[in-house]
Amino acid sequence: MSTPQRRYDLPCTETPSAWYNIVADLPKPPPPPLDPRTGQPAGPELLAPIFPMALLQQEMSAEKWIDIPGAIIEAYNLYRPSPLIRATALEKALDTPARIYYKYEGVSPAGSHKPNTSIAQAYYNKQEGVTRISTETGAGQWGSALAYACSIFGIECMVYMVKVSFHQKPYRRSMMSTWGAECIPSPSNTTEVGRKILAEDPDCPGSLGIAISEALEDAVGREDTKYSLGSVLNHVLLHQTVIGLEAQKQMEMAGDEPDVVIGCHGGGSNYAGLVFPYIGDNITKGKDTRIVAVEPQACPTLTKGPLAYDYGDTAKMTPLMQMYTLGSGFIPPGIHAGGLRYHGAAPLTSHCISEGFSEAVAVPQLETFASAITFARSECIIPAPESAHAICAAVREANAAKEAGEERVILFNLSGHGHFDMAAYDAYLAGELTDHEHPEEAIGKSLETLPQVPGA
Ligand SMILES: *Cc1c(COP(=O)(O)O)cnc(C)c1O
Repeated sequence: MSTPQRRYDLPCTETPSAWYNIVADLPKPPPPPLDPRTGQPAGPELLAPIFPMALLQQEMSAEKWIDIPGAIIEAYNLYRPSPLIRATALEKALDTPARIYYKYEGVSPAGSHKPNTSIAQAYYNKQEGVTRISTETGAGQWGSALAYACSIFGIECMVYMVKVSFHQKPYRRSMMSTWGAECIPSPSNTTEVGRKILAEDPDCPGSLGIAISEALEDAVGREDTKYSLGSVLNHVLLHQTVIGLEAQKQMEMAGDEPDVVIGCHGGGSNYAGLVFPYIGDNITKGKDTRIVAVEPQACPTLTKGPLAYDYGDTAKMTPLMQMYTLGSGFIPPGIHAGGLRYHGAAPLTSHCISEGFSEAVAVPQLETFASAITFARSECIIPAPESAHAICAAVREANAAKEAGEERVILFNLSGHGHFDMAAYDAYLAGELTDHEHPEEAIGKSLETLPQVPGA
C-alpha cells in the first residue's frame, strides 16, 4: 500500500484578507427575495429583527471584495489555511490517469467547513451587542460550529436539532454542550410551531425546514436573541469563499489547474465556497473549468425540483426566495447524509446552475458509501457522508478519464470528516443501507403547495 501524500500548505499569513462576492461578476443579477405579503422585493427592514445589520449589508452587497475583520482572521488562523492534498493513493486505487486533488475542511475544531461562517456570524452579532443566538441544525455540524464560534465571542447559543439526527448522533449534542450551548430535538414543545406539528404527528422525525421555523420563532420572540443560518443565504456563501480562494493559490503551488471542480450540495455553502472563485474566473477571465454540484438521489433538489419562489422553512416565516426546491413541506427520507436533506437550495447556487455556470448531478446512497470506503482505505481520512457525495462524483470523473484514456485534473471539496457518523458506516458495512427510490410521489405532493407570488 502506498502512503497518501503531497500537501500544498500555504503559510497561515496567507489566509485570505477579503471574501469574494460572486454577485459582482454575474452577467445577470440573481432575482431578489420577496416579501410574501406584497410580492415586492424584501428590504433589509424585513429581516432586521432577526439578523445583525452588518450581515444584512453583506446579504444585499454587490461589492466584489469584502474585507475580513482582523478578529475573524485571527480565529480562522487556528485552522486556516486548510490543506490542499493530492490524492495519490486514491489515484492508484482507481488506477486512473486523472490527477485528483481535494481541499480538506475537516481540520477545523468542529470538523467541517461550517466555522468559516459561524465565526464571522458570531463576530458581527457580538459587535452589535447581541447576547444570544438561536439556530437549527440537521446532522449537528452547524450546531456544533456555531456553539464553538459563540464560545469564542462569549455569546449564548440555542440549537434546535432535527430529531432523527439528534438520536442518530448523540455525540454532536455532547460537543455543543461542551462548548456551552443548549441543544434540543426538533420538533420540540418549546415553540408554537413545534407543538402544532407534534399534535398532528407525535412521531415526526423532523426536518431542517421545521427546525428553522422553531429557531426563527425563538429569535423573533426575544429581545436579546438573533437568528443564525448555516447555509443558503448570500452572506454565508460569501464567508465560505476562503476555501476556493486558498485552493486557487494552492493549485498554483502544485503547478496544476483543475479541469473540473466538485462540491457536494445541501444548502450550497461548501460547494459555493470552493467553486465561486472558479466560476468568477470562467466569467471574467474566459476560462472553461467545469463545475459540478452533487446531491443525494433521495433529496434531488437541483435535479428534480423546479426553479421557483418558495419559503426557506416549513412554517413559511422566511421571505420568498427563488431557488430549486422540492417544496417547503418536503420531508426527505432519513438518509445518512443529514446535511444534504434540505428541501431547497441557495438562491445564488440555484442561479449559477440555471444560468449554465454549473452542472448538477444526483448520486445514490450505496455508490456514495462505496466511494467513501475506497477513499478511507486509500487516503486514510474517513469522510463525512455529505462529503462522500463529492468523492462519488470525483470517482466517476476519474473512471471516465480512465475509459477515455485521457488526463483530467479533478478538484473536490472534502467538506468534513465522518467521526460522528460511524453508525452510518457500521450500517453500510453490515449491508443494512439501501438506495432510496426517487421519492416522486412525495415530491409531487409537496410541490402542489408551492406559494403563489402576489402580483406575479
Ligand atoms: C453541512 C454540511 C454539508 C452541507 O451543507 P452545504 O451548505 O451544502 O455545504 C456538507 N458537508 C458537511 C461536512 C457539512 O457539515
